[in-house]
Amino acid sequence: MKRFAVIGAGLSGLIIAKKLSQRTKVVVFEKARGVGGRMSTRYADPFYFDHGTQYFTAHTLEFQNFLKPYVDKGSIAEWKGEVMNLEIGKKENISSWLEPHFVASPNMNNLCKSLAEGMDIRTFCEVAPLEGKIEKMWHLLDKEGAMLGEFDWVISTTPPAQTLRLFNRHIIQSHPLRTARMQGCYALMLGFNKPWDRHWIAAKVNNNPIDWISVNSSKPGRDSKVTCLVAHSRNDWAEAHMDQDMNVTEKLLMEQFVRVTDYPADNADYVALHRWRYATVDNAKKIGSYIDKQLRLGATGDWCESSRIEEVWVHATKLADQIV
Ligand SMILES: Cc1cc2nc3c(=O)[nH]c(=O)nc-3n(C[C@H](O)[C@H](O)[C@H](O)COP(=O)(O)OP(=O)(O)OC[C@H]3O[C@@H](n4cnc5c(N)ncnc54)[C@H](O)[C@@H]3O)c2cc1C
Repeated sequence: MKRFAVIGAGLSGLIIAKKLSQRTKVVVFEKARGVGGRMSTRYADPFYFDHGTQYFTAHTLEFQNFLKPYVDKGSIAEWKGEVMNLEIGKKENISSWLEPHFVASPNMNNLCKSLAEGMDIRTFCEVAPLEGKIEKMWHLLDKEGAMLGEFDWVISTTPPAQTLRLFNRHIIQSHPLRTARMQGCYALMLGFNKPWDRHWIAAKVNNNPIDWISVNSSKPGRDSKVTCLVAHSRNDWAEAHMDQDMNVTEKLLMEQFVRVTDYPADNADYVALHRWRYATVDNAKKIGSYIDKQLRLGATGDWCESSRIEEVWVHATKLADQIV
């Protein structure tokens, strides 16, 4: 039986691992403490924040069919409510979503947790860049140099810069994966020991370092006795402030949050800031997954097309089918 190593336990890695494990031996390596990647959730009991992916839409029948069993059992549900347009000095106005916006329930990481059930997943395990093959097999090491095993195939689902580091000289110079660029994002998380008292569930913010605000506690399956807010910075703002002291960044975003919403964020019972260095694709274009059947290497992720969960799913599914 062929042995597969999948690097990364976000949606891409878990979709591929699930498909391949029906017929082969698959091990998933994840450097973080849990699964989910950018679909993860910050736990700060009683506050929970989906600080990466906010929601997803489903345009294709294939993706709708994939979601259906989860929707039927309630672990994926539609997030409904009023959405605002906010801008300092301008009158707020309400807009509405034109299509269903789905979230995993009770937290965004639950979809990946369900996919991970029964799989061989090694967390806290950062894979080191690949050396050459030994007797036709890839010998994987972790970053401390400890042996992780021998594999026929290695598939990376890490962001492009990390995949290039992992595969390095094994990826040909002209491959478009080398042109994929990601942008950062800051996620400010605010928790309050009281229910949310406004009518809206999310806001698009214009002309501000903050781009988006969501009332996480308004999503289905969340505890509405507390208020959990997530504010995402604009990507270009995050890039310009990427190496800034996190305390300074937090203060700047807090000030903007209060000015935009007029909500007393200074009284928050919980405040945290997360920096996503590789949040979303900058120069979205259709590249498609990477596969080298001779070397038995593969890679996929949002860089293949765009930072939408549905497209990530499409490309991961296609890559797994190609390999099978
Ligand atoms: C702030 C933010 C907001 C977003 N909002 C939305 C949204 O509302 N809707 C939407 O559709 N999409 C959204 N996205 C995009 C979406 O989250 C991603 O496109 C998608 O989650 C990518 O999944 P993935 O599995 O390809 O990559 P990831 O989720 O990044 O998974 C890659 C995994 O690889 C691991 N890893 C990296 N290097 C190594 C290594 N050397 N060894 C082992 N493990 C490693 C990482 O820890 C990570 O878990 C958002 C993303 C961010 C960051």
